[in-house]
Amino acid sequence: MMADARRTNRVGCDQYRRDPETPLPGDLGMIASVTSDAAIEVRGLRKVYGDIEAVRGIDFTVRRGEIFGLLGPNGAGKTTTVEVLEGYRDASAGDVSVLGYDPARRERALRERVGIVLQSCGVYRHVSVREVLTHWAGLYPHPRDVQEVIELTGLGEKADARTRQLSGGQLRRLDLALALIGDPELIFLDEPTTGFDPAARRSAWNTIRSLKALGKTVLLTTHYLDEAQELCDRVAIIKGGEIIAEGAPSELGVGGEVRYKVAYRNGNGELTSQETDDPTTVLFELTRGALDRGERLEELSVTRPSLEDVYLELTADE
Ligand code: ATP
Repeated sequence: MMADARRTNRVGCDQYRRDPETPLPGDLGMIASVTSDAAIEVRGLRKVYGDIEAVRGIDFTVRRGEIFGLLGPNGAGKTTTVEVLEGYRDASAGDVSVLGYDPARRERALRERVGIVLQSCGVYRHVSVREVLTHWAGLYPHPRDVQEVIELTGLGEKADARTRQLSGGQLRRLDLALALIGDPELIFLDEPTTGFDPAARRSAWNTIRSLKALGKTVLLTTHYLDEAQELCDRVAIIKGGEIIAEGAPSELGVGGEVRYKVAYRNGNGELTSQETDDPTTVLFELTRGALDRGERLEELSVTRPSLEDVYLELTADE
């Protein structure tokens, strides 16, 4: 709720307002140290709210063209981190670079290259989806084609409906469409599929994958670990304002180990399982023993822990 309330403060969408005082593209504020394959670089980021240290000196890099997930329990510091990257909050300490800019300066050149999924703006309730998108497209120097964005976000059937007639899930698709209309290089997606039905989630995943296919960089925050596992090239798990694990979803393990679970139903019909980092040897021993005894290993399976298994273990309170 808190995150939504804060996001709603962006109504009026000042990120898109044309400001004659704002420096022109390529002007001030470039951070010289940024490496060319990094879309986002965060070094030693801290954010303090009064007595609360919400973010405690985190470091991470999002490479250009990847989908990077920021995961963590409620209150972990994800929204705070993302809002610093979006330029909506000032950091208490540390260095942050977004596409080579310091987001705190809120330069137009950066705002035009970044898309943020906002809560829907109430002011647009009486106009159609196509009209909203056409209006917003006019605020950017190189917008995407309106019809293409409508199709990309699955809003074809609702293109001429008034936005007040859209369902919650359709409104979130419109949020995504608004974030894409300026053809941004970097897109912040904050819990983009909350409230979606299962089919709509799958379709949103396809849209997000197509952003990657277009060469875009995506920073995704989500509480759906299957979503992160499906979409993210890499994730960082944040807890208590610190990053406690980072890597590709399939490679994350507790204590750096990737464990396998070998399970089967034994001769008494009981389901038996054991964990190992060497499934080849375990399988060999098990199958050799079974063959020697003339038995079958019913329901034999080898699985790796899902991102959700690893996440729950890592974030469990001691
Ligand atoms: P959620 O998953 O619930 O959205 P989050 O990981 O996004 O959580 P944040 O919203 O960044 O977490 O909050 C991190 C901590 O900072 C929490 O303890 C929260 O109460 C606190 N916090 C966030 N915003 C403020 C604020 N404006 N003033 C004071 N404390 C705040």
